[in-house]
Amino acid sequence: MRETNGGGGVLVLLGSPGVGKGTQGVRLGQDLGWAHVSTGDLLRAALGERTVLGVKAGKYMDAGELVPDHLIVDLVREHLATMPAGRGVVFDGFPRTVPQAEALDRVLAGAGRTVNRVCLLEAPEEILVKRISGRRASPNGRVYNIYFDPPLRDGVCDETGEPLIHRADDHPDTVRTRLSVYREVTAPLVGFYEDRGLLARVDGEGGIEQVYGALRAAVGR
Ligand code: AMP
Repeated sequence: MRETNGGGGVLVLLGSPGVGKGTQGVRLGQDLGWAHVSTGDLLRAALGERTVLGVKAGKYMDAGELVPDHLIVDLVREHLATMPAGRGVVFDGFPRTVPQAEALDRVLAGAGRTVNRVCLLEAPEEILVKRISGRRASPNGRVYNIYFDPPLRDGVCDETGEPLIHRADDHPDTVRTRLSVYREVTAPLVGFYEDRGLLARVDGEGGIEQVYGALRAAVGR
Protein backbone atom coordinates (compact mmCIF):
# COMPACT_ATOMS: atom_id res chain seq x y z
CA MET A 1 0.00 0.00 0.00
CA ARG A 2 1.43 3.38 -1.03
CA GLU A 3 1.22 5.98 1.72
CA THR A 4 1.20 9.70 1.25
CA ASN A 5 0.38 10.46 4.84
CA GLY A 6 3.71 10.58 6.57
CA GLY A 7 2.63 8.25 9.38
CA GLY A 8 -0.02 5.58 8.98
CA GLY A 9 -2.21 5.14 5.95
CA VAL A 10 -5.94 5.43 5.42
CA LEU A 11 -7.68 2.17 4.70
CA VAL A 12 -11.39 1.67 3.98
CA LEU A 13 -13.11 -1.65 4.65
CA LEU A 14 -16.03 -1.97 2.29
CA GLY A 15 -18.60 -4.74 2.21
CA SER A 16 -22.13 -5.81 2.98
CA PRO A 17 -23.49 -5.88 6.53
CA GLY A 18 -22.41 -9.14 8.19
CA VAL A 19 -19.34 -9.70 6.01
CA GLY A 20 -16.99 -9.26 8.97
CA LYS A 21 -15.78 -5.67 8.63
CA GLY A 22 -16.08 -5.11 12.39
CA THR A 23 -14.24 -8.25 13.49
CA GLN A 24 -11.50 -7.84 10.90
CA GLY A 25 -11.24 -4.07 11.32
CA VAL A 26 -10.67 -4.21 15.08
CA ARG A 27 -7.87 -6.76 14.65
CA LEU A 28 -6.27 -4.97 11.71
CA GLY A 29 -6.27 -1.71 13.65
CA GLN A 30 -4.63 -3.40 16.65
CA ASP A 31 -1.97 -5.15 14.56
CA LEU A 32 -1.06 -2.04 12.56
CA GLY A 33 -1.31 0.27 15.56
CA TRP A 34 -3.91 2.32 13.68
CA ALA A 35 -7.26 3.68 14.88
CA HIS A 36 -10.26 1.54 14.00
CA VAL A 37 -13.09 3.96 13.21
CA SER A 38 -16.52 2.34 12.92
CA THR A 39 -19.33 4.82 12.29
CA GLY A 40 -21.81 2.17 13.52
CA ASP A 41 -19.94 2.00 16.87
CA LEU A 42 -19.73 5.82 17.10
CA LEU A 43 -23.47 6.08 16.44
CA ARG A 44 -24.32 3.36 18.98
CA ALA A 45 -22.19 5.18 21.58
CA ALA A 46 -24.00 8.47 20.79
CA LEU A 47 -27.34 6.68 21.08
CA GLY A 48 -26.32 5.16 24.43
CA GLU A 49 -25.43 8.62 25.72
CA ARG A 50 -28.69 10.05 24.33
CA THR A 51 -26.86 12.89 22.54
CA VAL A 52 -28.85 14.94 19.99
CA LEU A 53 -27.07 13.09 17.17
CA GLY A 54 -27.66 9.72 18.82
CA VAL A 55 -31.38 10.30 19.18
CA LYS A 56 -31.68 11.51 15.55
CA ALA A 57 -29.64 8.57 14.25
CA GLY A 58 -31.41 5.92 16.33
CA LYS A 59 -34.62 5.93 14.33
CA TYR A 60 -32.77 5.31 11.06
CA MET A 61 -30.60 2.60 12.61
CA ASP A 62 -33.52 0.67 14.10
CA ALA A 63 -35.20 0.66 10.69
CA GLY A 64 -32.01 -0.56 8.96
CA GLU A 65 -31.78 2.66 6.94
CA LEU A 66 -28.77 4.90 6.49
CA VAL A 67 -28.30 7.93 8.71
CA PRO A 68 -28.21 11.12 6.53
CA ASP A 69 -24.83 11.87 4.99
CA HIS A 70 -24.30 15.29 6.62
CA LEU A 71 -24.69 13.83 10.14
CA ILE A 72 -22.20 11.05 9.38
CA VAL A 73 -19.65 13.33 7.74
CA ASP A 74 -19.74 15.74 10.71
CA LEU A 75 -19.35 12.80 13.11
CA VAL A 76 -16.30 11.48 11.24
CA ARG A 77 -14.73 14.93 10.86
CA GLU A 78 -15.10 15.59 14.61
CA HIS A 79 -13.75 12.16 15.48
CA LEU A 80 -10.67 12.55 13.25
CA ALA A 81 -9.99 15.94 14.85
CA THR A 82 -9.58 14.18 18.25
CA MET A 83 -6.83 11.90 16.87
CA PRO A 84 -3.11 12.66 16.52
CA ALA A 85 -2.40 14.05 13.02
CA GLY A 86 -1.12 11.38 10.67
CA ARG A 87 -2.27 8.41 12.76
CA GLY A 88 -3.24 5.50 10.53
CA VAL A 89 -6.98 4.82 10.24
CA VAL A 90 -9.01 1.75 9.36
CA PHE A 91 -12.52 2.91 8.41
CA ASP A 92 -15.25 0.33 8.94
CA GLY A 93 -18.77 1.04 7.65
CA PHE A 94 -17.74 4.43 6.27
CA PRO A 95 -18.05 5.72 3.61
CA ARG A 96 -21.34 4.06 2.70
CA THR A 97 -22.52 6.38 -0.11
CA VAL A 98 -20.74 8.15 -2.98
CA PRO A 99 -21.34 11.60 -1.39
CA GLN A 100 -19.73 10.30 1.85
CA ALA A 101 -16.71 9.08 -0.14
CA GLU A 102 -16.38 12.49 -1.81
CA ALA A 103 -16.68 14.22 1.57
CA LEU A 104 -14.02 11.90 3.03
CA ASP A 105 -11.65 12.88 0.21
CA ARG A 106 -12.21 16.56 1.04
CA VAL A 107 -11.72 16.06 4.80
CA LEU A 108 -8.50 14.09 4.23
CA ALA A 109 -7.19 16.55 1.63
CA GLY A 110 -7.51 19.29 4.25
CA ALA A 111 -4.94 17.37 6.29
CA GLY A 112 -2.73 16.52 3.29
CA ARG A 113 -3.94 12.92 3.34
CA THR A 114 -5.75 10.58 1.02
CA VAL A 115 -7.39 7.13 0.99
CA ASN A 116 -4.57 4.65 0.29
CA ARG A 117 -6.43 1.36 -0.09
CA VAL A 118 -10.00 0.03 -0.12
CA CYS A 119 -10.55 -3.63 0.73
CA LEU A 120 -13.87 -5.08 -0.42
CA LEU A 121 -14.90 -8.08 1.69
CA GLU A 122 -17.24 -10.37 -0.23
CA ALA A 123 -19.44 -13.34 0.79
CA PRO A 124 -22.70 -14.92 -0.48
CA GLU A 125 -25.90 -13.34 0.82
CA GLU A 126 -27.25 -16.48 2.56
CA ILE A 127 -24.15 -16.54 4.77
CA LEU A 128 -24.49 -12.82 5.53
CA VAL A 129 -28.12 -13.26 6.65
CA LYS A 130 -27.13 -16.04 9.10
CA ARG A 131 -24.12 -14.11 10.34
CA ILE A 132 -26.21 -11.04 11.13
CA SER A 133 -29.53 -12.45 12.26
CA GLY A 134 -27.71 -15.07 14.40
CA ARG A 135 -25.57 -12.47 16.15
CA ARG A 136 -26.04 -12.09 19.95
CA ALA A 137 -23.86 -9.82 22.08
CA SER A 138 -22.96 -10.05 25.74
CA PRO A 139 -22.92 -6.79 27.72
CA ASN A 140 -19.18 -7.53 28.24
CA GLY A 141 -18.55 -7.19 24.48
CA ARG A 142 -18.25 -10.90 23.59
CA VAL A 143 -20.24 -11.67 20.45
CA TYR A 144 -21.81 -15.09 19.76
CA ASN A 145 -23.64 -16.47 16.75
CA ILE A 146 -26.49 -18.94 17.30
CA TYR A 147 -25.58 -20.76 14.04
CA PHE A 148 -21.77 -20.65 14.00
CA ASP A 149 -20.63 -19.94 17.58
CA PRO A 150 -23.51 -20.51 20.02
CA PRO A 151 -23.30 -19.95 23.79
CA LEU A 152 -23.43 -23.08 25.99
CA ARG A 153 -26.87 -22.07 27.29
CA ASP A 154 -29.40 -20.37 24.99
CA GLY A 155 -29.49 -16.60 25.38
CA VAL A 156 -26.91 -16.42 28.19
CA CYS A 157 -23.25 -15.32 28.13
CA ASP A 158 -20.81 -18.18 28.98
CA GLU A 159 -18.45 -15.76 30.71
CA THR A 160 -20.77 -13.55 32.77
CA GLY A 161 -24.11 -15.40 32.87
CA GLU A 162 -25.83 -12.21 31.68
CA PRO A 163 -28.63 -12.27 29.09
CA LEU A 164 -27.41 -11.83 25.50
CA ILE A 165 -28.60 -8.86 23.44
CA HIS A 166 -30.09 -9.17 19.96
CA ARG A 167 -29.50 -5.77 18.27
CA ALA A 168 -32.79 -4.31 16.95
CA ASP A 169 -31.19 -3.88 13.54
CA ASP A 170 -30.10 -7.54 13.48
CA HIS A 171 -33.72 -8.82 13.32
CA PRO A 172 -34.54 -10.59 10.01
CA ASP A 173 -36.79 -7.91 8.41
CA THR A 174 -34.32 -5.16 9.20
CA VAL A 175 -31.45 -7.32 7.92
CA ARG A 176 -33.20 -7.60 4.54
CA THR A 177 -33.62 -3.80 4.44
CA ARG A 178 -29.93 -3.31 5.30
CA LEU A 179 -28.83 -5.70 2.54
CA SER A 180 -30.98 -3.96 -0.06
CA VAL A 181 -29.71 -0.53 1.07
CA TYR A 182 -26.19 -1.91 0.62
CA ARG A 183 -26.91 -3.13 -2.90
CA GLU A 184 -28.54 0.12 -4.00
CA VAL A 185 -26.58 2.86 -2.23
CA THR A 186 -23.26 1.44 -1.04
CA ALA A 187 -22.30 -1.01 -3.81
CA PRO A 188 -21.69 1.87 -6.30
CA LEU A 189 -18.62 2.67 -4.19
CA VAL A 190 -16.99 -0.45 -5.67
CA GLY A 191 -16.82 1.26 -9.08
CA PHE A 192 -15.93 4.60 -7.49
CA TYR A 193 -12.79 3.15 -5.87
CA GLU A 194 -12.02 0.73 -8.72
CA ASP A 195 -11.82 3.73 -11.08
CA ARG A 196 -9.25 5.27 -8.74
CA GLY A 197 -7.15 2.08 -8.71
CA LEU A 198 -7.62 1.64 -4.94
CA LEU A 199 -9.83 -1.46 -4.73
CA ALA A 200 -8.66 -4.90 -3.58
CA ARG A 201 -11.18 -7.76 -3.41
CA VAL A 202 -10.97 -10.08 -0.37
CA ASP A 203 -12.81 -13.40 -0.02
CA GLY A 204 -14.87 -12.97 3.18
CA GLU A 205 -16.54 -16.39 3.12
CA GLY A 206 -14.11 -18.46 5.23
CA GLY A 207 -13.35 -18.48 8.93
CA ILE A 208 -12.02 -15.44 10.77
CA GLU A 209 -8.32 -16.49 10.49
CA GLN A 210 -8.53 -17.30 6.80
CA VAL A 211 -10.26 -14.01 5.97
CA TYR A 212 -7.73 -12.10 8.07
CA GLY A 213 -4.84 -13.67 6.15
CA ALA A 214 -6.42 -12.67 2.84
CA LEU A 215 -7.06 -9.18 4.15
CA ARG A 216 -3.46 -8.70 5.31
CA ALA A 217 -2.26 -9.79 1.88
CA ALA A 218 -4.60 -7.26 0.24
CA VAL A 219 -3.46 -4.49 2.56
CA GLY A 220 0.09 -5.32 1.60
CA ARG A 221 1.58 -5.04 5.07
P1 AMP B 1 -23.00 -0.96 11.26
O1 AMP B 1 -22.69 -1.30 12.67
O2 AMP B 1 -21.83 -0.46 10.48
O3 AMP B 1 -23.74 -2.06 10.54
O4 AMP B 1 -24.01 0.29 11.32
C1 AMP B 1 -25.27 0.18 11.97
C2 AMP B 1 -26.21 1.24 11.44
O5 AMP B 1 -25.67 2.55 11.69
C3 AMP B 1 -26.46 1.21 9.94
O6 AMP B 1 -27.46 0.28 9.58
C4 AMP B 1 -26.88 2.65 9.68
O7 AMP B 1 -28.20 2.88 10.11
C5 AMP B 1 -25.96 3.41 10.60
N1 AMP B 1 -24.67 3.77 9.93
C6 AMP B 1 -23.43 3.31 10.25
N2 AMP B 1 -22.50 3.84 9.44
C7 AMP B 1 -23.17 4.64 8.56
C8 AMP B 1 -22.78 5.44 7.46
N3 AMP B 1 -21.49 5.54 7.08
N4 AMP B 1 -23.75 6.12 6.80
C9 AMP B 1 -25.04 6.06 7.17
N5 AMP B 1 -25.48 5.30 8.19
C10 AMP B 1 -24.56 4.60 8.89
